[in-house]
Amino acid sequence: MATFAPPLQENQANHPPITAKKLLINNQWVDAESGKTFPTLNPSTGELICEVAEADKPDVERAVRAARKAFDGGPWRKMSGAERGRLMNRLADLIEANADDLARLESLDNGKPYNVARAADLKLTIACYRYYAGWADKQQGKTIPVNGNYFCYTRHEPVGVVGQIIPWNFPLLMQAWKLGPALATGNTVVMKPAEQTPLTALRVGELIVEAGFPEGVVNLLPGYGPTAGSAIAHHMDIDKVAFTGSTEVGHLIMKASAESNLKRVTLELGGKSPNIVFADADMDAAIEGSHFALFFNQGQCCCAGSRLFVEEKCYDEFVERSVARARRRTVGDPFDSRTEQGPQVDQDQLDKVLGYIRSGVSQGANLLCGGERVGDKGYFVAPTVFGDVQDNMTIAQEEIFGPVMSIIKFRDMNEVIQRANNTIYGLAAAVWTKDIGKAHAIANNVRAGTVWVNCYDVFDAAAPFGGFKQSGIGRELGEYGLQNYTEIKTVTVKL
Ligand code: ADP
Repeated sequence: MATFAPPLQENQANHPPITAKKLLINNQWVDAESGKTFPTLNPSTGELICEVAEADKPDVERAVRAARKAFDGGPWRKMSGAERGRLMNRLADLIEANADDLARLESLDNGKPYNVARAADLKLTIACYRYYAGWADKQQGKTIPVNGNYFCYTRHEPVGVVGQIIPWNFPLLMQAWKLGPALATGNTVVMKPAEQTPLTALRVGELIVEAGFPEGVVNLLPGYGPTAGSAIAHHMDIDKVAFTGSTEVGHLIMKASAESNLKRVTLELGGKSPNIVFADADMDAAIEGSHFALFFNQGQCCCAGSRLFVEEKCYDEFVERSVARARRRTVGDPFDSRTEQGPQVDQDQLDKVLGYIRSGVSQGANLLCGGERVGDKGYFVAPTVFGDVQDNMTIAQEEIFGPVMSIIKFRDMNEVIQRANNTIYGLAAAVWTKDIGKAHAIANNVRAGTVWVNCYDVFDAAAPFGGFKQSGIGRELGEYGLQNYTEIKTVTVKL
């Protein structure tokens, strides 16, 4: 079993003072109209970190009014792209200057190891704001040659007031993926962070105000999905909603749009990504890479390599070495520098993951290591590996969102492509091989928005990300990520 360092209270007490616990509306920190608050808990201990103001429908109303005013008439509307870009770069600089504290807060609220938050989440977050700052003054249309004596051109205009609903697995990074393209293209935002992890989004709110963004441009509403989130999705004066979360809620967001004002919808949803290992792969790299693909972020990644297809010829060696690697994985206090894996985010996720493990056992998968909770405090799960997993088992079909590896045997290329595609999802995929022909056959034939070859979870603000099928609609990041935040206007002038 993995080693376990119990949570060290004195390290967790080192977190920075929590100054932002209210709603940010029109650059003011305000209480919820109901006066209600909700608790945010430390996943390492299950104890209260602090209470946060709980937004609901009336607060969404207030925030939308502020965002609409800022969009229709405020200084933001008249600001040049270059000036918007400067504000965004200033925000990136402030996040960088506060990166240690933000990483500490992220680790405290989410449970991810501090070292990972600092090296991955903060680095990618800062890079994302800088990347989109660079696009702010490059929103340009085309001139179109049309029949007759006319001058025809297009303008890329902001969509308007944008609702953004984000998840808890990468709180700072998902905030950046959403705010980056929205602000670069001149929209105003009403954002709801996840109820499990509101603290870093709110701290960034303070930095947004400090950077000098005009009032009403970014409004932050911590609160719950069925209340504040649903009010955003149904709002008649929100022009677009961008959502990252479960496929189940993705359906609700789409329905809410259809039932209200046909607001534009982009969705980044669940996955059950095939990670395919051929026998000719560099085995050391494939084993370590597949371990990372599944266990990174406590297994709480929408693109986790959670269907691990391994070619029959190398199956036994791969399984044995993967189990050994999982047993060595260090689980424990996120603030301990030796820790690779912290707790799951909350009790619900812990229960859900343990439920999937039980279903794997009862449906006949071979439990090779882990399989249980670690300790009796906090939400830790032992790194778990199942062998002999069959395609029709629940653990091979549903998103577990936890540290549970499912290894599946395959025989040949055509078979594995067909089986890899046999899912409602299509977010990501990977292939490990030295044969360039096999690599491209997988890349071309697996129906997924991202394919990694001999690597996994390689992200860059410039490279688009999003899903085929029920993994989502639209792309985030890169130039493609801008498309969802503009309306194209055609202007035709008689000459
Ligand atoms: P998870 O199961 O991973 O927590 P969810 O899809 O439930 O994912 O949550 C992702 C985000 O969606 C969170 O901010 C959550 O509050 C929000 N959310 C949940 N339910 C709804 C809903 N009915 N309408 C709008 N947003 C919702």
